[in-house]
Amino acid sequence: NDNSKKIKFEDKSNSLLNKHGSNERRGKLSLQEQKRRLPIFDKRNQLLNLITRYNTLVIIGETGCGKTTQIPQYIFSARLQGNGKIAVTQPRRVAAISIALRVAQEMANGSVGDTVGYSVRFEDVTSKKTKIKFLTDGMLLREAISDNLLMNYTVIILDEAHERTIHTDVLFGIVKQAQKLRNDKQVMPLKVLIMSATMDVDHFSQYFNHCKAVYIEGRTYPVNIYHSIKPQDDYQTACVATFFKIHKQAPPNHDVLIFLTGQDEIEAVCYHIRTLLREPDVEGPPARVFPLYAAQSSAQQMQVFQSVPINTRKVIVSTNVAETSVTITGVKYVIDSGMVKVRSYNPATGFEVLKVNRISQEQAWQRSGRSGRESEGFCYRLYTKNQFDSMCLSTVPEIQRVNLANVALQLLALGIHILNFDFMDKPSPESITSAFEQLKQLQAVEEIFSKRLTPLGSKMAQFPLDPRFSKILISSQEYGCVEEALTIIAMLSGESILFNPPSKREEAQMMRQRFSSAYGDLIMLLNVFREFNKIGQSNIRSWCQEHYINLRNIVYAKQIRLQLQELCEWCHIPISSCEGKLDQIRKCMLTGLFMNVAELHRDRQYIMLSNKQVVNIHPSSVLHGQQPACVIFTEVIQTSKCYLRNLLTIEKDWLNEIVPGYAKC
Ligand code: ADP
Ligand code: MG
Repeated sequence: NDNSKKIKFEDKSNSLLNKHGSNERRGKLSLQEQKRRLPIFDKRNQLLNLITRYNTLVIIGETGCGKTTQIPQYIFSARLQGNGKIAVTQPRRVAAISIALRVAQEMANGSVGDTVGYSVRFEDVTSKKTKIKFLTDGMLLREAISDNLLMNYTVIILDEAHERTIHTDVLFGIVKQAQKLRNDKQVMPLKVLIMSATMDVDHFSQYFNHCKAVYIEGRTYPVNIYHSIKPQDDYQTACVATFFKIHKQAPPNHDVLIFLTGQDEIEAVCYHIRTLLREPDVEGPPARVFPLYAAQSSAQQMQVFQSVPINTRKVIVSTNVAETSVTITGVKYVIDSGMVKVRSYNPATGFEVLKVNRISQEQAWQRSGRSGRESEGFCYRLYTKNQFDSMCLSTVPEIQRVNLANVALQLLALGIHILNFDFMDKPSPESITSAFEQLKQLQAVEEIFSKRLTPLGSKMAQFPLDPRFSKILISSQEYGCVEEALTIIAMLSGESILFNPPSKREEAQMMRQRFSSAYGDLIMLLNVFREFNKIGQSNIRSWCQEHYINLRNIVYAKQIRLQLQELCEWCHIPISSCEGKLDQIRKCMLTGLFMNVAELHRDRQYIMLSNKQVVNIHPSSVLHGQQPACVIFTEVIQTSKCYLRNLLTIEKDWLNEIVPGYAKC
């Protein structure tokens, strides 16, 4: 029983745990009263004056002070947007959706899609009436492709600028250019606000021609921080154990926020906590456990913001989205695993890997700060003080660590060459070269550093997908398997649709045996989706439970599929199916994934063709334990070893047939 494992923390003041005994839940104040109580409220007029006066402004304010929810409303009520719309970007869809819903609610209980709307990949909830539009940074970038002056907007707010996501970084340049071009042409002026939760004022202000910056103080309470005495290798179990330590002692209205890295872990920890909460000898009040991660459907995501019955504890298990993007009220305890999942790309090997990394010190402070918003808070860090001291001070901008092929493609679609782009921090020359190599291999450009896209490249830029997957979708027409390609890509686009609680891994795999395929995971996903589509609405839930399929994620995949299908129709790609001829779809997948080939060698090891690195088949794959001669994959995960995920077997001869000249061996 993992719960019996005791994690020792530095003992500063455990007595504080019992000090706050009040049992009242907040949230009884009216929305108007809540708005007035936010730290930003006193600055309303000052902010409006500055926004009127300056066309570019950097706004720094502590997380939770009201930047994202309030500033767009202030601008709207002062009509500073004139005849245009206000855009507010967010790095994550969870944040864009939940904040739009909140703001719609605050504005006279309006419903979302009216004055306030949102637009995220595969989901557009806006209308002609929409004046305040929350959207992911990726979506605004896509809008820029069809209109580089962004004429729909008079105010653009680039929020969460401190996160330095690749899309926000590119938007800095696009928006700066749009502002200048609109000024030169003397068309509708554009106001740009950069909002950040951390103090990197100078860097932002310098880039935007030394623009004005304002600082909004938050209202935070002291947070008691406890580092674990020993390093915690198994931080998932440590999270569960620490939660139960708190749960036993703290009053029921003190909610707990746990930071983990991604869907699998979060689902596993939620499952574990829920299971232990049901045990007869559990001490503490009733509790409700809510996961929060990117690929949930909007309805699921919203549950986490709803109130729970009195005398019940809320436990939120979240990715870093709860770090600065969204604020959940009532949190008094934070448990910080100290980990985050990041994409990182090695231009030397040409591979992007998903890696679980240590967070930066800045992130650690943001996380602990989440517990001290309404009163004194408590943060349990599942790492030692020494480990904390050795963490990086701040996070490296994404543009300096991810695959740039997609960005280079999108910029070219905008008529901008990445080499000439005005970046706040420049990506390395190697990663730019390697992006172009990839685009050339995909036939999106004819030459490395080409200034123009090929017709295929322009078509690829139309899809909101990684270029490799756009390529697959476009080639599926030729292979007569558009149906199948749509399904596989949609199933891969959200987070995992397979539910694998660690304690039931074998059972889950057994129950899903009937979908299994000797060709690998991608065909298995196809089988799952086909079966799923045959199930009547009333049986869907039990079917998913029985087969360990994540209901909300598969429903989401179905929505994505529909959107992609509409895009195909719009791009004149007729929907065809290869029926049972699976070689067609296997070949088709290779047209985009030929860079991701691994081959079995005599010593029973897999070696990646492109860089000769040794890799392993991930234990969750249906091909685990088998030894197909040659596979393609969509993802590399690096833990102690390198693991391949989402595999599909191929015949090696196909490589020559499909990408002549690519296979070097
Ligand atoms: P910032 O952008 O400065 O971090 P926000 O504008 O996101 O701050 O949040 C301001 C406040 O609004 C938060 O402190 C929180 O109390 C409240 N809030 C935001 N979203 C919600 C929500 N969905 N439900 C309830 N309260 C919310
Ligand atoms: Mg915010």
